[in-house]
Amino acid sequence: MRFGSLIFVVLNLSTMNITFIGLGIMGQAMASNLLKNKTPLIVYNRSLEKTEPLKALGAKVATNIAKAVSEADLVISMLADPNAVRELFFASDGVLSHMKAEATWIDCSTVDPNFSREAAVMAQEQNILFIDAPVAGSKPQAEAAVLSFFVGASHQTIAPFESILLQMGQKIIPFEKVGQGSAFKMVVNMLLGQAMVVFSEAIQLGLKLGIDPDFLLNTLPKLPVTAPFTAFKTDNIRSNEYPAEFPLELMLKDLRLATASYTDAGKRLPMAEAAKAQFEAADQAGLGRADFSAVHQYLAALSTK
Ligand code: NAP
Repeated sequence: MRFGSLIFVVLNLSTMNITFIGLGIMGQAMASNLLKNKTPLIVYNRSLEKTEPLKALGAKVATNIAKAVSEADLVISMLADPNAVRELFFASDGVLSHMKAEATWIDCSTVDPNFSREAAVMAQEQNILFIDAPVAGSKPQAEAAVLSFFVGASHQTIAPFESILLQMGQKIIPFEKVGQGSAFKMVVNMLLGQAMVVFSEAIQLGLKLGIDPDFLLNTLPKLPVTAPFTAFKTDNIRSNEYPAEFPLELMLKDLRLATASYTDAGKRLPMAEAAKAQFEAADQAGLGRADFSAVHQYLAALSTK
C-alpha cells in the first residue's frame, strides 16, 4: 500500500496539497521559499499575524487546524519544541486526528529522537507516514534556501519529497531509521551551544589579559581551534545587540534535550551540562528571545562583577 501511494505522490507532485505549520523565524522563511517557487501552500500558525507575509505571497491561510490539514497530502511542521508538536499533533482533536490516511508528515522541528520515534508510532496508528527532518542552518540559510535536512528515513522513502525539500535547502542527508535525523541534530546543536560558550569565555580571558577586543574578535574565528560559525556572531558582540536568528531559549531547549537523551542511557555529558547551565542563567536573566550568542552578554556581565 505504502509503495503504491509513494508512486502516486511522485506522479502528482504538482497537485499535491501541502500544509505548512509553524511560521516562526525558520518556518516563515521556509514557507516563503516554497511559495516563491510557485508551490501552492496552506499555512497555519498559532499567532495569526505571522501568516500575513505568506498570504501576500499567495498562501491560503487557515485559522483552524482541522481545516488546515484535512485535505493535505503532505504536512510540514516547524515548531519550537516537542511540547508544541505534541500539543498540536497528538491532542484528541489535533492534526493527526484530522489528516487523511496515507498522507505524510515531515517534522522539521528540532526534537529529541525518542520524541520522533513516538511521533512515528502515533502517525502510523492513523496510517500516516512520519519523517523527522530537522535542519542545519539558521535564519540567513533558511532565507537563502541553503538549509541541510537530516532525514530519519531512507533515500527511497524521502525521494518523493526531495523536490519540495530542495526548494528550502540544498542538501538532504538520509539516516535510514526514524529518529536518526533528530539524533544527529542533537549532536550538532550540542557542539553549537558548547562552542558559543567556549568562544565567549576565550574572549573574556583575552580581555582580562589585556588583549585588544578587536584583535580577539577578528582573529579568533579564523583559527583552526575555533568553531567557524563564531565569525557570524562577532558583529553582535561588537554592537552588544543580539537580534534573534536562533533564539537563546531554543538553544537551551536543545541542550536540555541532548543531555536528557544521554541521561536516559544512565550517562552524563559534563561539558554539555556546563554549557546548559550558562544558557539557563542567561535565559533567567531575560535573554531567552535574544539570539543564542547573547550568552556572551551574560558572561561578559558576570566578568565585571
Ligand atoms: P520560533 O521563531 O520561536 O518559532 C516557533 C514556532 O513554534 C512558532 O510558529 C510558534 O508559534 C510555534 N509554537 C511554539 N509553541 C507553540 C505551541 N504551544 N502551540 C503552537 N505553536 C507553537 O523558532 P524558530 O527559530 O523558527 O525554530 C523552529 C524550530 O526550528 C525549533 O525547533 C528550532 O530549534 C529549530 N531550528 C531553529 C533554527 C534557527 O536558527 N532559528 C535553526 C535550526 C533549527 P507562535 O508564532 O504563535 O509563537
